Amino acid sequence: MIEKNSDNDNPSKVHRDFLREQIDCDLSSGAIETVVTRFPPEPNGFLHIGHAKSIQINFGIAQEYRGKCNLRFDDTNPSKEEKQFIEAIKRDVEWLGFLWNGEVKYTSDHFEYLFELACHLITSNNAFVDDSSADEIRNSRGTLTEPGKQSPYRDRTVEENLDLFKRMRAGEFKDGTRVLRAKIDMTSGNINLRDPVLYRIMHTSHPRTIDKWCIYPTYDFAHGQIDAVEGITHSLCTLEFSDHRPLYEWLVHKLPLPSQPKQYEFSRLNISHTVLSKRRLTSLVKGKHVSGWDDPRMPTIAGLRRRGVPPEAIRNFINNLSISKTEGMVEHAMLDHAIRENLNKHALRRMGVLRPLKVIIENYPQDKIEKVEVSNHPANPEIGSRMVSFGREIWIEQDDFLEDPPRKFFRLGLGREVRLRGAYLITCKEIKKTSDGQIVELRCSYDPDSRGGNAPDGRKVRGTLHWVSSNNSVDTEVRLYEPLFKTDKPKMGEDFLEELNPNSCKTLKLCKIEKAVFDSSHNDPAIQLERLGYFCIDKDSTADLPILNRTIALRDSWTKINK
Ligand code: ATP
Ligand code: MG
Repeated sequence: MIEKNSDNDNPSKVHRDFLREQIDCDLSSGAIETVVTRFPPEPNGFLHIGHAKSIQINFGIAQEYRGKCNLRFDDTNPSKEEKQFIEAIKRDVEWLGFLWNGEVKYTSDHFEYLFELACHLITSNNAFVDDSSADEIRNSRGTLTEPGKQSPYRDRTVEENLDLFKRMRAGEFKDGTRVLRAKIDMTSGNINLRDPVLYRIMHTSHPRTIDKWCIYPTYDFAHGQIDAVEGITHSLCTLEFSDHRPLYEWLVHKLPLPSQPKQYEFSRLNISHTVLSKRRLTSLVKGKHVSGWDDPRMPTIAGLRRRGVPPEAIRNFINNLSISKTEGMVEHAMLDHAIRENLNKHALRRMGVLRPLKVIIENYPQDKIEKVEVSNHPANPEIGSRMVSFGREIWIEQDDFLEDPPRKFFRLGLGREVRLRGAYLITCKEIKKTSDGQIVELRCSYDPDSRGGNAPDGRKVRGTLHWVSSNNSVDTEVRLYEPLFKTDKPKMGEDFLEELNPNSCKTLKLCKIEKAVFDSSHNDPAIQLERLGYFCIDKDSTADLPILNRTIALRDSWTKINK
């Protein structure tokens, strides 16, 4: 198990935590020789950044201890599972930089074995077939303060149970008419031990076993048993499974399994202003509130990738989280910080104008075009520089001009002088407006002796603007993003849709972007448009209409304004 791309990660930053302490202990006591973990997604949606935490813990631990980590699809509920999700999950795990041990594994590869284990439980009088309906089972389960009631079918003989279970498999009964339940204790303080359901009838085609099965094991029945088959030593999952651990252990104890795995739980990752639950992400996709699982606003791995977030940034973000048993919420600004920190190091600097204002430099010769040198990364001269075309007609940002600016506005105003980055000093002489007073063009002059941006007489010019010349710009659509939700913790239930941020995607048309942004010869897709943020080319781009996504602005202005 090797992590493919670890140049930016700092292994010394991996915190010691209770999981690693447990493993140290199991290795030194001789309880295990090698660590084997697994990442077990259900293929019912795309992976989100919460899964990245689980991936990093499982694969990361295996890597650190020279052990193994399996990728196992927990495909026991065919009604929601699809092949497209299997492919997406494999792609995302690889993209995050992890390689799984051997072949991809599937719980469904072991359906026959799980069936035999279920028969073993019946034979040892630890399971029975219940003809109660789902409602009846729910109503007799009791509550946290009241014990449950035993099913009237609980005392069936082993022979009758075996016969019925085999007939369930043979397809004799309709969905929901019977289930197989463990026979544990209806008075247990832990509701999961009140005769939990192990198998249900579902005449539903499965993405892999197609129509071979019409009964499917529950998560609880499949998970620990497959952990044992795969020789998993530490089955690491999130806290909501803590209450299932006694059932996990009961099954491992009752069944003749090839190994004795143990389950440990850690807290889920929650991030403010977004949702990390496949059920809710599915409703965003199905309700067309976003363009798909890989919409750049989605907290999915595919969404983050399309938005231009590098995998190292996600790994660094997760490495800096503590692994504990305390539920909490991480501010989205922390993820943003990790993204900025990473992109700042390598994104090529380019120029582009999002809301263009035309500038005509009146004393610059009509047809002259010259090239000025601009650095590709001021903090990292090794990344070199490029020659950028300058001409009589250029574009600057509308925001960078005020007709009557206050004293401390170090940008352009009527009669004021600014530096065009890497090019010349210009002074605004005249403003052209439409009949209704809209500024449409500035008439400026340039100082021919200020090439490179410095005044020959040493006069001070404070402001430096980004710009593009009209002969060197590409009309581009630019998409700017804000958090998907207005509130830091979207409501539970379907009401969460009311809290969607209506400004989460703003599309700007006819932005003027430096041609070099679309130069496919550089292999790093990340670009910093100076003063505007980090951008990447979106997959919806065509030859006629290039599209840029803003991965993230240079500074966090959204949180401040919205607090
Ligand atoms: P969701 O609750 O988002 O629907 P899930 O737990 O049903 O997710 P699975 O495909 O079953 O999704 O998850 C695979 C693994 O990822 C599980 O071990 C689960 O504990 C872990 N996981 C899921 N969400 C998070 C999260 N937010 N933080 C950390 N680990 C997570
Ligand atoms: Mg799950």
